Amino acid sequence: MLELGTPLRQVKGIGPKRALELEAAGLSTVEDLLLHLPFRYEDRSRFLPIASLAPGVKGTVRGRVVTATLRRTRARGLSIFEALVEDASGSIRTLFFNQPYLRRLLALGREVILYGEATPARAGRRGLVLAGPQLEVIGQEDPGAGEAIHTGRLVPIYPRLPGLSTRAIRRLVHGMLAALPEALPDPLPPGLAAARGFPPRRAALAGAHFPPPATDPDALMAGRSPALRRLIFEEFFFLQLGFALARRESEARRRPGAPVRVDDAIRERLRAALPFRLTGAQRRVLKEIASDLMSQRPMNRLLQGDVGCGKTVVALVAALLVVENGQQAAFMAPTEILAEQHHRSFARILQGKGYPVGLLTSAVSGAARRQVLQGLASGAIPILVGTHALIEEEVLFRALRLAVIDEQHRFGVAQRARLRAKGALPDVLVMTATPIPRTLALTVYGDLDLSVIDEMPPGRRPVKTVLRGEESRRAVYAFLRAQVAAGRQVYVVYPLVEETERKEVKAAVAMAETLRRDVFPDLGVGLLHGRLRAVEKEAVMGDFAAGRTPILVATTVIEVGIDVPNATVMVVEQADRFGLSQLHQLRGRVGRGAHESYCVLLAGETATEEARRRLEVMCATQDGFEIARRDLEIRGPGEFLGTRQSGLGDLRVGDILRDHEILEDARRQAFALAATLRTEPERRDLARHLGGRWSGRLGLIQVG
Ligand code: ADP
Ligand code: MG
Repeated sequence: MLELGTPLRQVKGIGPKRALELEAAGLSTVEDLLLHLPFRYEDRSRFLPIASLAPGVKGTVRGRVVTATLRRTRARGLSIFEALVEDASGSIRTLFFNQPYLRRLLALGREVILYGEATPARAGRRGLVLAGPQLEVIGQEDPGAGEAIHTGRLVPIYPRLPGLSTRAIRRLVHGMLAALPEALPDPLPPGLAAARGFPPRRAALAGAHFPPPATDPDALMAGRSPALRRLIFEEFFFLQLGFALARRESEARRRPGAPVRVDDAIRERLRAALPFRLTGAQRRVLKEIASDLMSQRPMNRLLQGDVGCGKTVVALVAALLVVENGQQAAFMAPTEILAEQHHRSFARILQGKGYPVGLLTSAVSGAARRQVLQGLASGAIPILVGTHALIEEEVLFRALRLAVIDEQHRFGVAQRARLRAKGALPDVLVMTATPIPRTLALTVYGDLDLSVIDEMPPGRRPVKTVLRGEESRRAVYAFLRAQVAAGRQVYVVYPLVEETERKEVKAAVAMAETLRRDVFPDLGVGLLHGRLRAVEKEAVMGDFAAGRTPILVATTVIEVGIDVPNATVMVVEQADRFGLSQLHQLRGRVGRGAHESYCVLLAGETATEEARRRLEVMCATQDGFEIARRDLEIRGPGEFLGTRQSGLGDLRVGDILRDHEILEDARRQAFALAATLRTEPERRDLARHLGGRWSGRLGLIQVG
């Protein structure tokens, strides 16, 4: 007898070596392997009369072995097993390569099911052959199964697993299903499954792998058979329940000390401090944040908005509210360049207004570092900007009240938690520059409240975007020259040409050299990449920001956040190598000032048709949400987010694009359930189920 939790190494047919390989692929229990679902099903349910086979016809036939011979070719080692298989209508030659053991299996008179494509016999021979068909020997293979599993039905086709063919997986899954108890414990609350017409758990697992004959193949492919619906719902339900419980817990928490107070005097001071009027969307979002700050429940909020919509200033105002109340705020940015830029712009905005801003990156050392650390501990520095250097142990705040995490997707969950731990239940605001569709947000950040800025600051004009080939390079350079002559600045970005950063840097360095020497010898060409020392980076960025260098060649380090309003052209070399969201980020570096801006996507010679079509999307729309949606479709969620830490890779059954309705339903039900849990034991029971099933995989949620 097996149980869902039985380790795979105890399953018949899985040796210790295979078990280790599967473990490395993330599958350690029977349940894990059972949730490795087919990605498609093949209809091999109807048997064709052998006589009806014709060249190119794929199908399943059933017949008896009437002759069988094993031959060896002269080419060393190759063996061909040939059998003639006959049914009432006729017969066909079948060939199996390098499977000499078939001699024993396919004895004369054996009944077999074959699935394959008929092809004309080699020159000089008459008739058709089935070469290398899928084979099932009736009543022989899978003894005890008593039914054909590889043919003669809707047959599951699996994504590969290490060392296991789709056929081997099929056999293992079939064996495991047969060895499970008739009734499996049902973790879904009673009522939910019934109301949705879901089959019981075991039937759902069986039906997902070996659909009953009447199943509509289209429904299967769309994940819409009752069996698949149940498994998908279950997965989303427990994920969302984890979020719901985490949320409930955080709502029950009460922060020590007085809540933030906002009065008219404070409002007036802040308004006076800002260089511009906030947009309606910024004000609305700020209100949401302020009301969190004013409550005693710690904030956990995700701030979303398209590139350039002005998230930073919203976070800055939030920080000032906290500071006005005598507490501290920290900003964590993913790169030194970005941290330095935030520091520079905060310092500029806040200059002379009595709010000192500290900077902490790994480049800040010696006396400067000691001074910052002291200022944080004493409270003399109320606002700190930094990289992940600010979550190091030695960094201690007097009273950290607000932690802002910029470009959240660049950080892992653990880093978020460590920043949070620097204060006594501080408010946490995470910002993401890549707008993500709602279903994805609910899956990855389901424990956070969501604020969206859906309006651009006034005066923004769309960035004119064009796709050009190598033949236009000179024209592009001429255009850059004209822009520089008009007082504007330009970026030329070089992509990740090779897998390694080192090579990327080399390519950018070579590019900068060529531009300096051959193309723009009379103009300043700056070079920015991740391998420069911090002081060098700062100097290069400083020169560009101040308008001293008109042309900046960069690697993707400038992808996030860089803000130089006078820059009006973004040239992206080998644009076909970028994902859409990344291109959108890059393009977001221009169009930030009053001048008409441009984005030139240069597609390499080697760009595929598909890549070109993708780039056309960039030319056609500026809407970050639309681009994100397309990007997500093209690359899938895991790659889209660009991080394994997101927990998304752990969705096994559900597909956030295809199954968004099930996701919304599951989320509603999970949150409703969490709200009705009255007793601690009830909660703990569910938490335990989650703990086993989810928390290890998701790492996002801490429950129980
Ligand atoms: P993102 O949301 O991409 O982080 P930023 O916060 O960098 O965007 O803002 C982009 C630019 O818009 C900055 O130069 C910022 O000063 C400017 N900005 C932000 N809000 C406004 C506003 N309400 N009016 C005018 N300019 C604004
Ligand atoms: Mg930003």
